[in-house]
Amino acid sequence: MKISGNEIWFITGSQYLYGEDTLKQVAEDSNKIVEGLNKSEKIPLNIIVKPTVKSSEDAYNIMIAANSDKKCIGVVTWMHTFSPAKMWIGGLKALQKPLLHLHTQYNREIPWDEIDMDFMNLNQSAHGDREFGHILSRMRYRVKVVVGYWQDADVQEKLAVWMRVANAWDDSRDMRIARFGDNMNNVAVTDGDKVEAEIQLGYHVDYYPIGDLVEYINAVTEAEIKHMLSVYDSLYDVAPNAQEGGKDRISVFEAAKQEVGMRRFLEERNIKAFTTNFDALHGMHQLPGLVSQRLMADGYGFGGEGDWKTAALVRTMKVMAAGLNGRTSFMEDYTYHMTPGNMSALQAHMLEVCPSIASSKPKLEVHPLGIGGKADPARLVFNTPKGDGIAATIIDLGNRFRMIVNDVKVIDIEKPMPKLPVANALWIPMPNLQIGAQAWILAGGAHHTGFSMSLTKEYMEDYADIAGIEMLIIDEKTNIRDFKCEMRLNEVYYMLNK
Ligand code: MN
Repeated sequence: MKISGNEIWFITGSQYLYGEDTLKQVAEDSNKIVEGLNKSEKIPLNIIVKPTVKSSEDAYNIMIAANSDKKCIGVVTWMHTFSPAKMWIGGLKALQKPLLHLHTQYNREIPWDEIDMDFMNLNQSAHGDREFGHILSRMRYRVKVVVGYWQDADVQEKLAVWMRVANAWDDSRDMRIARFGDNMNNVAVTDGDKVEAEIQLGYHVDYYPIGDLVEYINAVTEAEIKHMLSVYDSLYDVAPNAQEGGKDRISVFEAAKQEVGMRRFLEERNIKAFTTNFDALHGMHQLPGLVSQRLMADGYGFGGEGDWKTAALVRTMKVMAAGLNGRTSFMEDYTYHMTPGNMSALQAHMLEVCPSIASSKPKLEVHPLGIGGKADPARLVFNTPKGDGIAATIIDLGNRFRMIVNDVKVIDIEKPMPKLPVANALWIPMPNLQIGAQAWILAGGAHHTGFSMSLTKEYMEDYADIAGIEMLIIDEKTNIRDFKCEMRLNEVYYMLNK
């Protein structure tokens, strides 16, 4: 059930004022809450209960321990009783891991017949958590606050979202991203400050000459290629010209060779995301389309045309979605269907869309590609099922990174597109194409996105808070006047809070 061996620490706050008995009860109740949460199928990581914090020294020591424990990827705090918040300042200043403040209570209901002052003094998170919230706010902490009864589904779901995001944040602490070829000529939005990205987001972006990769591809053995081909034949609906004996089988053979070589290259270097560039394919048989699709399906991040920010974002979204239904891909806004009342945007890429979003068994096909000047590439072709999703981007504004997330509604294509042999999705950006695309363009969002039907904007909000980056949401509530105002306010905020 658990998505990784990482852990979340549960830290309960109190103080010495209440005496031994109360503190014993506080510790017991915390244990029971954590036990209950760990038993829940909704909770994706193990939660470890820590001794109650009763002093400044306790607070500082536990946060320092959380920082240095590799398995601890986030801290949940809860004030069972009142816990004077000045004592938390040192600990909170030291903490370097994601923080969630859980505003709950051990008992669900007020015991009307039994309640007395002792009960109230023991069960006073209603006021203890406000004191803690004050110091978080005073210290300008960007924290997730979850309110509700700890056994309830909505509380556990919000906790679970944040845990998945914390897990992805941990994954990106050492995220190595390989760029095969540079950023495409003169494209602005896909470029950015890689030094700042490493400082703020953990992305370590390395350039690799395509020749380094070609060496790996050329070293692949016949047996390895044959094995790969048998995997393709069993997983996909292979078009006649791409089958064994077909005139374009050679392209599938070369794609298999690319895949074995590229996997080895990435694995040896612990690389989690990569970019390609169709202007930099020297020594390659074809644009590596099929391999990029299949590596994405295995959890690698991908960005086309040197887009390392989107490659990293796709990786992060894939880690967030681990164990969910996994529908997450690199995507690109391509062309519009501007029918009155129901305008939509066709999403695709040259080749590289992840088959995790396929509505049915993908077709393996080989067709010519108009750009790139290489042999006809193999690719998986499929449609995307209708449903709700999000499209996300991270852009570099010069003084900060901005994340933009748009709710989208994937709809069915009206008719088959027999002359368009690439994977695709058709969606309506919320609240509609006019406002959705207007807001996106005003905000400077990229044509490339991380797209997911497994995640919601709540995941991305949690991520932006942990990363400390700007976040703009475009959804059914967006109106352009407020959106412009929000961007202008953010401009001032980030000028003052650099
Ligand atoms: Mn592109």
